[in-house]
Amino acid sequence: MHTPLESRYAGMTYQRCGRSGLRLPAVSLGLWHNFGGVDPFDTARQMVLRAFDLGITHFDLANNYGPPPGSAEATFGRILRDDLAGYRDELIISSKAGYLMWPGPYGEWGSRKYLVASLDQSLRRMGIDYVDIFYSHRPDPDTPLEETMAALDAIVRSGKALYAGISNYSAEQTARAAAILRSLGTPCLIHQPKYSMIVRSVEDGLLDVLDREGIGCIAFSPLAQGLLTDRYVGGIPAGSRASKPHGFLRPEQITAERQQQVQRLGEIAAQRGQRLAQMAVAWVLRDRRMTSAVIGASRVSQVEDAVVALAHRSFTDAELQQIDRILAG
Ligand code: NDP
Repeated sequence: MHTPLESRYAGMTYQRCGRSGLRLPAVSLGLWHNFGGVDPFDTARQMVLRAFDLGITHFDLANNYGPPPGSAEATFGRILRDDLAGYRDELIISSKAGYLMWPGPYGEWGSRKYLVASLDQSLRRMGIDYVDIFYSHRPDPDTPLEETMAALDAIVRSGKALYAGISNYSAEQTARAAAILRSLGTPCLIHQPKYSMIVRSVEDGLLDVLDREGIGCIAFSPLAQGLLTDRYVGGIPAGSRASKPHGFLRPEQITAERQQQVQRLGEIAAQRGQRLAQMAVAWVLRDRRMTSAVIGASRVSQVEDAVVALAHRSFTDAELQQIDRILAG
């Protein structure tokens, strides 16, 4: 059993999630990669426990995280049981359903059948009675939005989730989803979009909708899966995400142009007294509409880097313009 640091709440910033009563840590830890059944359990355990000791109360999962799918939830459940059993009320645990999880017509997308069955499976894998946040992981073009939102509402009413969220929904889909959820009496707590210095589509309307609706925003892949770090400065190291065969970050994405940009961004970060990974987290959080950045990690030092980033979150106009110029070039 782990004994958490008494000082764990001293260094973290907690930000109100939209207009809800829930505050989330400015940095959350995601278990998409490096927490699966194929990954070393002890490293996964050390990262979760170090995160908790640093005030990271929010752990982001989904039914399909692994590999194999489901195994990240099993890993997290084991850590909860063995190390953090007395701390469930200090944790915000999220899960999602939307991507392919099991064969047949009920194993993906947005039907009520799939969402309810998937959450039951997630709860069993993690050994918990409820998740704090349950997301529709992606919009389903073939299921009425009313059905998907009614499923989230029913799940919250059943007590198996405390809050409802959506991920990968466009600005227009988000406005409709929020209106449906509001009419059902279960407000949409949070949206989880991809957002980083490299991927900025949320700025084209989504953040305005979230602000207007009072919905929080948690950015996923704020380091662009490792591109916005020094990970690939000298090539593609063994064990890095780009070296793995799953194809989420492919070697051909690490172009000479990207490496040059990363080097120049690293110089700005150094002038700010940060590593590039830290500046990337700070950049995402510079907007007051962002509730949290959900980072990934393969080692404890990466979790620590992200938390240190919070010490310097503001940017001058000149820095922001320089960053834009580098990435536009
Ligand atoms: P990041 O952009 O934070 O990338 C994480 C990767 O960057 C790490 O695995 C590591 O790569 C590298 N890295 C992290 N910190 C450092 C550092 N300090 N120095 C050098 N390299 C570093 O996020 P992810 O893409 O992992 O996504 C984060 C979370 O977002 C996921 O776990 C998941 O919870 C959520 N997510 C949600 C999605 C959705 O559809 N809703 C989709 C994708 C993610 P390496 O492993 O090579 O060391």
